Amino acid sequence: MRPARALIDLQALRHNYQLAREVTGAKALAVIKADAYGHGAVRCAEALQETADGFAVACIEEALELRAAGIRGPILLLEGFFEADELPLIIEHDFWCVVHSLWQLEAIEKAALSQPITVWLKLDSGMHRVGLHPADYQAAYRRLLASGKVAKIVLMSHFARADELHDSSSTEQLAIFDKARQGLVAQISLRNSPAVLGWPQIPSDWVRPGIMLYGATPFDEPNAVASRLQPVMTLESKIISVRELPAGEPVGYGARFVTTQPTRVGVVAMGYADGYPRQAPTGTPVLVEGQRSQLVGRVSMDMLAVDLTHIPQAGLGSTVELWGKNILASDVAKAADTIPYQIFCNLRRVPRLYSGH
Ligand SMILES: *Cc1c(COP(=O)(O)O)cnc(C)c1O
Repeated sequence: MRPARALIDLQALRHNYQLAREVTGAKALAVIKADAYGHGAVRCAEALQETADGFAVACIEEALELRAAGIRGPILLLEGFFEADELPLIIEHDFWCVVHSLWQLEAIEKAALSQPITVWLKLDSGMHRVGLHPADYQAAYRRLLASGKVAKIVLMSHFARADELHDSSSTEQLAIFDKARQGLVAQISLRNSPAVLGWPQIPSDWVRPGIMLYGATPFDEPNAVASRLQPVMTLESKIISVRELPAGEPVGYGARFVTTQPTRVGVVAMGYADGYPRQAPTGTPVLVEGQRSQLVGRVSMDMLAVDLTHIPQAGLGSTVELWGKNILASDVAKAADTIPYQIFCNLRRVPRLYSGH
């Protein structure tokens, strides 16, 4: 059996969820969209079911998968419905629904609903992706109430730059949100992971942590709260071949790495078809037999090469951590010029083995 696998530590997931609650004092929707950022949405939801205030996913397909697996409690659809014919299912399964556009508001007004729904009314406070314009916000709130089809409204918005701790735009977005909701008596939800970890002054009745649940920092710089996160996924494999090369020998496709001295190279059963980033350059950190080392040469579809020269005890069958408790996914992501969100979501083909439940 191919030794590539992702170990998922559900105890660490619960720790990170509790941290989001502890530092905010708010209720927390665990964001488990995109198959829990590659960690397995059903297993993660099961692990959090007893404690979580609710879950958030991108679409009804993801929400239905959770209900089919027996997940109870609130599930928020972060982009609401894409077509009005999803509304009966939203009611049947008791999903909470973001309304980010006037067309969705109109669809709710027109629909014959058997029960009122819970709406999270999204304001575009400056990110300019989805959300109602501030000038339309109060009218939309009143129309939802007047429709008689809404049980509860939570006011929400989303930050564009909360991961930039010295940038003022989150404060500016908060001011726009506060102005748009003036006079409305309703719970609010603003904070994603970077805002949970780095912006303690921003209020929220509900927070929406995603990446932090999986133990990765959204910041480029050290952060005291983020340092308390526990990595959930360990992506590991084994060395399947060893080469002893003299100086001047190329390794891998395109000869992108050429030895400058006698070098021991180990080949690992892991490649970009598993989701390991192909862009990761020579020098990207890995852990072999508990020792830090580095990637050499190009990442192939099913294999990659690592330097074993300074780890004589490593050889055929040695375990290699690509990211996890020792090699942070955020560091691998940075080396590959991407973000931990993407390297987690890209995970595929690799069996996931769960512990800690
Ligand atoms: C994905 C998402 C989140 C979670 O973001 P993280 O940065 O992963 O914490 C929160 N809110 C909304 C609206 C989202 O789409």
